Amino acid sequence: MQIVSTIADARKIRASLNGTLGFVPTMGFLHEGHLSLVRRAREECDAVAVSIFVNPTQFSPNEDLNRYPRALERDLSLLKEAGVSFVFTPDAGEIYPPGFATSIDVGDVAKPLEGAVRPGHFSGVATVVTKLFNIIQPTKAFFGQKDAQQCAVIRRLVTDLNIPVDVVICDIVRNEKGLALSSRNSYLTDSEQERALLLHESLGKAQERIASGERNAETIKTLIAAILSKDPDFSVDYISVADPYSLTELDSVDDEALISLAVKVGNTRLLDNILVRKK
Ligand code: AMP
Repeated sequence: MQIVSTIADARKIRASLNGTLGFVPTMGFLHEGHLSLVRRAREECDAVAVSIFVNPTQFSPNEDLNRYPRALERDLSLLKEAGVSFVFTPDAGEIYPPGFATSIDVGDVAKPLEGAVRPGHFSGVATVVTKLFNIIQPTKAFFGQKDAQQCAVIRRLVTDLNIPVDVVICDIVRNEKGLALSSRNSYLTDSEQERALLLHESLGKAQERIASGERNAETIKTLIAAILSKDPDFSVDYISVADPYSLTELDSVDDEALISLAVKVGNTRLLDNILVRKK
């Protein structure tokens, strides 16, 4: 496995590869969720590239950029074991040299939910993903459904800018109790980890209710809110029942719906979601 931190070296390796290339962009501190994307990429492509870059432009000034967890050596050994061909680990100066000025605005899909709570976040994501696509030039890129709005943003971006990359969305990987894996789970105390299971539980109850015929989005949101309110330490940012592609809020679950939520558990903000379909 080759490890490169300059764009010039990444381009050289890319040029030397034949066949299809799968790409998994990450911010590091890897867990089974990331590795599931790498495995899928290995199944579907001849070679796999992974980037590890904690992208400063997707963090607001009051967010956790400086304390975002990092474990580069461990990440590299996991990626080597997983059969990755090359890893791109640029620093911020390589990606954003002096004079850098362009940013990508993907419009309405980036505005609600995470976009409303984290202004500029998706512009940072769309811009860095476009740069990474231009540098790595993958055949397919693999993203996790865990970040459902990010998936919608990337799909919009790739379609609107005619980027010749197939976007593959992979299922959420959870721990044995149902908590969606996230690098930020490392901020949780043991007790918070346990209590955070309510997020997935509330989504499961919503899914059951829909399976037994409930259609009203407001009723579903109220059900989830009631479950989450059992923990006085939770602070709910949003509970959403939306179209999975446009992220427009739905009044009624008539076809496919993305039920997503963001909750602060103590000081840690967690996301979870579930895709539901009318039976
Ligand atoms: P991050 O390092 O948090 O930027 O995540 C890199 C990629 O891994 C993104 O496409 C995430 O959606 C995906 N990912 C993170 N956590 C999970 C998970 N629990 N299951 C599946 N994919 C995940």
